[in-house]
Amino acid sequence: MDDQQHKPPLLLTPGPLTTSSAVKEAMLVDHGTWDDDYKALTQWVRHELVTIGNASEADYTAILMQGSGSFGVEAAIGTAVPKKGATLLIAANGAYGDRMIEIAEYLAIPHVVLPVPEDQVVTLTAVEEVLAAHPEITHFAVVHCETTTGILNPIESIIPALAAKGIITLVDAMSSFGGVPIDLEQLHVDYLITSSNKCIQGVPGFSIVLAKKHTLLKAKGNARSLALDLYAQYQTFENHDGKWRFTSPTHVVYAFAEALRELDQEGGVSVRTHRYQTNETLLREGMQDLGYELVIDKSVQSPIITSFKFPMTDFDFRAFYDYLKDRGFIIYPGKVSKCDSFRIGNIGEVSAEDIHHLLDLITTYTKETLQLPVGN
Ligand SMILES: *Cc1c(COP(=O)(O)O)cnc(C)c1O
Repeated sequence: MDDQQHKPPLLLTPGPLTTSSAVKEAMLVDHGTWDDDYKALTQWVRHELVTIGNASEADYTAILMQGSGSFGVEAAIGTAVPKKGATLLIAANGAYGDRMIEIAEYLAIPHVVLPVPEDQVVTLTAVEEVLAAHPEITHFAVVHCETTTGILNPIESIIPALAAKGIITLVDAMSSFGGVPIDLEQLHVDYLITSSNKCIQGVPGFSIVLAKKHTLLKAKGNARSLALDLYAQYQTFENHDGKWRFTSPTHVVYAFAEALRELDQEGGVSVRTHRYQTNETLLREGMQDLGYELVIDKSVQSPIITSFKFPMTDFDFRAFYDYLKDRGFIIYPGKVSKCDSFRIGNIGEVSAEDIHHLLDLITTYTKETLQLPVGN
């Protein structure tokens, strides 16, 4: 057994992902939720998140919400859309777009769906066609990086155009915020959702909604759920100096604060994007050299996660997964409905050296176990 086998495996998954030792160590201390230091830390975290979104606190606020990312999406949709006289358009090109449709169904929110193939991006033209046919639409929701495939939807062209028409916009930027530059002010987005365990590189435990204050302040009384009332959550943070409503994941918040400091030390979002992009390019090109085919075109590929088609029809993903796991890497099964695929994440505490090591293992596996011819 070499050293690699003594270390816990590296997560090449889109969250939870591999975090630093310092992030994990920040969880070794217990904290009370009423404590002034904890409340001040919560306020600092909220402030930093708005800064990462390149926005001013005069216009935007960060609301933390207990639970995984989906709790944040459900809180945002359930709070943004009024109970009467509103219709939500959801553009979906993957599993997370579909999840927003399910949320609208659960909450009995009138909605229209724009279905887009999983390997295609959502376009402004397609959205505008639906709007023309459905003048009743008041709200719009889309996923930024559809983690199903790793495709990046062009929110920079879609969201400002809809905002200009007075449509309230919601973006699920769960797997992209912190890993890809996002400018809230330029987007004019009303609600943008992410979570503690994606590109900020914290551990799971809470979701984050970056909300335009002007819009949020008009959302009082909309929520269909007490616990997921984003407006009430916001009011509690604001009126009680950073006190969360209900018990909060204290350890996770301390770990997240450490992750924010590390993002800053790394050089901020643009430097992190560059690292992820380097990982993604190395991985994608290395896999293509081995004969693995991409699920989506590289022109729409995000730096976050990359999908590959099975190299042969009777490919045993489980055996491949176990081979890599035994040698220090956890990869991810596919989620695309129309073809058999698997995914490898490029985010978290992962370096180019790690990707090189992974590619060496996949080369050996492809040649020796799959007995496929590999280039060079
Ligand atoms: C991770 C993720 C979510 C949230 O999933 P949870 O399992 O609730 O954390 C939502 N949308 C996207 C695009 C994601 O990548």
